[in-house]
Amino acid sequence: MWRPHLLRSWRERLRSSRWRLWAALLLLVVSLLVVLVFLAAEYEESRDQTALEQDAAALASDIRSSLLRNVQTLQSLHSVAPTADSWIVPAAELMAQHREMVRLEWLDSAQRMLAFRDSPFVPDLFGYLGRDQALPEVRLACDHAKRLSGPAYSSSYFWPLRNGKGLELIEMCLPVARGGLPSGFLVVTYSLPGMLSELTNRDLLRGRGLAFNEADGTRLALHSVVSGTRRTLTARHVLDLPGHTLLLQLQSPRLVRGLFPNVLTAVVGALSLALLSVLFLLARDIRRRQRAELDVAEALAFRKAMEDSLVTGLRARDMQGRITYVNPAFCDMVGLSAEQLVGTGLPAPWWPPELVDEYQQRQMVRLAGQVLPREGYESVFQRPDGTRFPVLIIEAPLIDAQGKQTGFMSAILDLTEQRRVEDLNRTSQERLQATARLATVGEMASLLSHELNQPLAAIASYASGTLNLLEEPAGQVSSADEMQADLVQAMRRIGEQADRAGRVIKSVADFVRRREQVREVVTPQSLVDAIQPLLGLQAKKQGIRLQIQIAPDCPPVLCDRTMVEQVLLNLARNGMQAMPQGDPAPRSGLRVLRIEVGQARLHSGQAPGGQPQKMWVSFAVTDHGLGLSPEVQAKLFTPFFTTRAEGMGLGLSLCRTVIEQHGGALTHEPHTPRGTVFRFTLPVSMVTSPPLSSRP
Ligand code: ADP
Repeated sequence: MWRPHLLRSWRERLRSSRWRLWAALLLLVVSLLVVLVFLAAEYEESRDQTALEQDAAALASDIRSSLLRNVQTLQSLHSVAPTADSWIVPAAELMAQHREMVRLEWLDSAQRMLAFRDSPFVPDLFGYLGRDQALPEVRLACDHAKRLSGPAYSSSYFWPLRNGKGLELIEMCLPVARGGLPSGFLVVTYSLPGMLSELTNRDLLRGRGLAFNEADGTRLALHSVVSGTRRTLTARHVLDLPGHTLLLQLQSPRLVRGLFPNVLTAVVGALSLALLSVLFLLARDIRRRQRAELDVAEALAFRKAMEDSLVTGLRARDMQGRITYVNPAFCDMVGLSAEQLVGTGLPAPWWPPELVDEYQQRQMVRLAGQVLPREGYESVFQRPDGTRFPVLIIEAPLIDAQGKQTGFMSAILDLTEQRRVEDLNRTSQERLQATARLATVGEMASLLSHELNQPLAAIASYASGTLNLLEEPAGQVSSADEMQADLVQAMRRIGEQADRAGRVIKSVADFVRRREQVREVVTPQSLVDAIQPLLGLQAKKQGIRLQIQIAPDCPPVLCDRTMVEQVLLNLARNGMQAMPQGDPAPRSGLRVLRIEVGQARLHSGQAPGGQPQKMWVSFAVTDHGLGLSPEVQAKLFTPFFTTRAEGMGLGLSLCRTVIEQHGGALTHEPHTPRGTVFRFTLPVSMVTSPPLSSRP
């Protein structure tokens, strides 16, 4: 069963769970985006750190190789045996070229000073403290150098200057030889800041901080610092010198990057945004689809509810006659379930066995593409329990969306109830008409008794005459032969009068007797003849002349004779009743009731019932009575309308029903100079040689 509230609550639940899903998806995508941006930034930073460490290594390597070059340069100073005086000049040149060196000394092998040269760039280095204060470092380095037979460095030390500042210095001692024998030492005092500024590649230093540190992190010498930010990246690299180890520290500002620090992150971001947009579009599309799906589901549910609640059976068949669809009403009708029906072909399970051939024939005609009757056709179905019922089947071709016929759709109406009502109607109509006939006879009872009185009186008088004759002594008045002749005569008269009485009674019995409603071919003459005795009774009583004119060429009609006789009798009696005896009719010549029968002169298209092809016979009953007043005219055909005390008021309404059932029409019009004409039509029988029925 179609329940709209269930559909609605299902829709709401679906909508809320859908929104939750979408929210989760959105959250996931946003988190993914954030994580991606974070990871990309981390990656960037680690890349910067690696680059910084590489640069620190490169700087350390620069310093190491410069110091090595310096060693070579110093060795070249002693490639030719110098004297103390000749040594000074190249030493001065050297000091002018190497700002990192603050002092160069030549010592003999007992480490006594032979010559020295101070850097022109750091004047008065040993003005505040004497050189001898640094001798322990020099001695340490030279002892080490002697052991190594190569350059050796002292540990670094702070050398205060006169201006309150100071310098971090380190000594390098290089043994020199002459003629393959050690001849002394060259001692170079390096300034650590000088080493940083002179021995490093400046391009690597732009904006960065460079310093020498102790292994424990104490700063020894500073070349530059990173300014403007506390967020820095730091790389340290060990500068391993023979005899001493220094730590080179390179610092670089940590770049504060935008939301998308590089192309990768930007691409990831853009892709995520594109993903979000696609998701949004998809969501919209899904929403639209779901709305359409819901609409379709609703339409389907509505259609199904309609089909299920229909009392009309619906059945679809394919082109081979197999059932493809049935609705519940059809299943109820034929007493089989949809599962039992769908897929079954011909002969159908509801066909009565003896009608299978006829139905099969009908299906063949239909499948052959014959035009189906729009008004449908009647048929009989049988249920599995053997009960049968009449149905009306209306079929139409089933056309698919491409305009191709795929089968047949049928609507089936169970006519059982309709038939029952029709039967009931017919029975009650018949009863009503029989009652009306009895009422007519009842009304005519006095006439009948009068009519019967005459033959009965005649019979009585003949009987008493006969008795008198018999009681008369023989030969008193007449001879025995004469008497016998009189008796025979009297008996014949009695018989005749009894016949007459019998005929009167029979005419009434014939009229009243209820017969089956059957259409038969009847001549107008026989119709009039049947009611004439009864009419004659009333006419005689009222002193009315009956005039009957039947056209000689008048064809027979197809009708239910009992009914039509009653109509004629009713109209004729109404006409006579409209001319009561006290009616001051102008001339007695006008106390006439005329019944005329002839072929109707109707133009084509004007025929009653809209059937111009039919021929009609017209019956006209004319009286010279008082005519119809407008009030009476308005109610003439209303059942139970009467102006007569003893009338039932059913006559005219029944007359009209009977005539219309025959396809004809009952009309009335005033007659001049006075009176009314009631006219009705009946269809001419089309049977060429009619088996004319005549009343026995
Ligand atoms: P009933 O004959 O029982 O009265 P009807 O239906 O035959 O019932 O007639 C209804 C009424 O119509 C009559 O009572 C009468 O007043 C009027 N009527 C019928 N036929 C004629 C006629 N030919 N002339 C005048 N009045 C008529």
